[in-house]
Amino acid sequence: MNAHDSEIIAGMLRQRGYKIIDSLDNADIVLFNTCSVRQHAEARVWGKVGELKKLKAQSAKLKIGIIGCMAQNYKEKIFERLPHVDLVCGATNMYDLPDLLKNLNNSDKKVLAVNKSQRDPRKKIDISKRENSVKAFVSIVEGCDNYCSYCIVPYVRGPEVSRPVNVIVDEIKRLVDDGVKEVMLLGQNVNSYKSTVDSPQLTDNKKQFTVYSSQFTGDSKNKKNDFVKLLEKLNKIEGLERIRFMTSHPKDADEDLFKAISGLPRVCEHLHLPVQSGSSRILGLMNRGYTREDYFKKIESLKKTVKDCAITTDIIVGFPTETEKDFNETIKLMKEVEFDSAFIFKYSPRNRTKAALLKDDVEYEIKQERNQILLQLQGDISKKKNEALVGRTLEVLIEDVNKKNKAEFVGHSRQDKLVIFKKNKHSLGKLVNVRISSSTNHTLIGETE
Ligand code: SAH
Ligand code: SF4
Repeated sequence: MNAHDSEIIAGMLRQRGYKIIDSLDNADIVLFNTCSVRQHAEARVWGKVGELKKLKAQSAKLKIGIIGCMAQNYKEKIFERLPHVDLVCGATNMYDLPDLLKNLNNSDKKVLAVNKSQRDPRKKIDISKRENSVKAFVSIVEGCDNYCSYCIVPYVRGPEVSRPVNVIVDEIKRLVDDGVKEVMLLGQNVNSYKSTVDSPQLTDNKKQFTVYSSQFTGDSKNKKNDFVKLLEKLNKIEGLERIRFMTSHPKDADEDLFKAISGLPRVCEHLHLPVQSGSSRILGLMNRGYTREDYFKKIESLKKTVKDCAITTDIIVGFPTETEKDFNETIKLMKEVEFDSAFIFKYSPRNRTKAALLKDDVEYEIKQERNQILLQLQGDISKKKNEALVGRTLEVLIEDVNKKNKAEFVGHSRQDKLVIFKKNKHSLGKLVNVRISSSTNHTLIGETE
């Protein structure tokens, strides 16, 4: 999501005549697009922006801005902590950035813009320069209403708002005309996507937005169907080869979705389904809305419905009160499900969240140890799963030349495995069949047939 926001920011600024450059020394403006989801991400930004103090002292015209979730989270406190910062612009004010920069350049005053509670997703027109011409991110839902107890996202990105179907379809058609073959649909919980249709004469009528503020309710059936309907619609776009999406919340991912993955030829066989913990007690404290057993049932149904579906996940270790027994439940779950890959995070308290009211009582060393144990376990599982693909032929989208070896191409299989193979007569953007000859934990190596 953040990477896509950075693309949009770059696109908006280019449209206004700005040039994006590589070197700090020649820059007139330096913008940091920030993430607040974990303490570590924030610590890096405080450090990096701090380092610019010297440069700012040498150049009076240099402007420094902080955009995104940290801006929303700390607001004017950023100016107190880092007085050399000139602009603070929240994630929900992001589309105002070009005008804010104009104000900044026309006066010596600092600019603070953190006043909106939600973004206007219809403003996300075709301004984003995509870094990769073959694959593109497309946001379909912004914000989040789930309020998992550890998570800051609903507080910094506002309530959940879906982009209208026709706007999404038009954006993807334009991308396909530009040569894009694969789209990644983005949302904090894509399964709660809700269809709306936008019409030009309603552009300024805020009421035409559907804003969802409910927690998990009985009407989720319709929400799910809307996402599946969207997939069915996108599946018909001529020239679009692959559709991916993330993230799916386990409480909302269901059989309809699994059938869509299995039945719609362009939808790739990969589901990112963050479990967070294998302990039902911890899941309850996390306000995730499902138990360990519910999660297993979904996985069972997914494996039954979709042949060869890759499953990936996110896990948090060291959530308040997590005992050795809870942690062992997570280990057991990982062994049983056998994820293709997993992001494993050490819990960090985030201000304003419910969990921040609980004592962060799992010692850092224990979090570190649990993190290492799960990384090792996942590494072994990923290795085994990749080894099992040796000898198989996989469909791979040629995405780029291998930066480390210009004689090779890199791409991904439908299950989102990274595949490296010798360059051939084909070009970027082509789907080719690659026979896998060897593997590592993270990569498959093969030859085109
Ligand atoms: N909407 C997505 C992802 C949100 S953030 C989802 O629900 O899965 C990405 C991941 O960051 C989460 O899945 C979670 O594993 C991790 N995360 C979020 N808040 C965290 C915190 N306070 N400490 C550690 N990890 C956290
Ligand atoms: Fe955060 Fe939960 Fe929303 Fe994901 S679903 S963004 S973890 S609150």
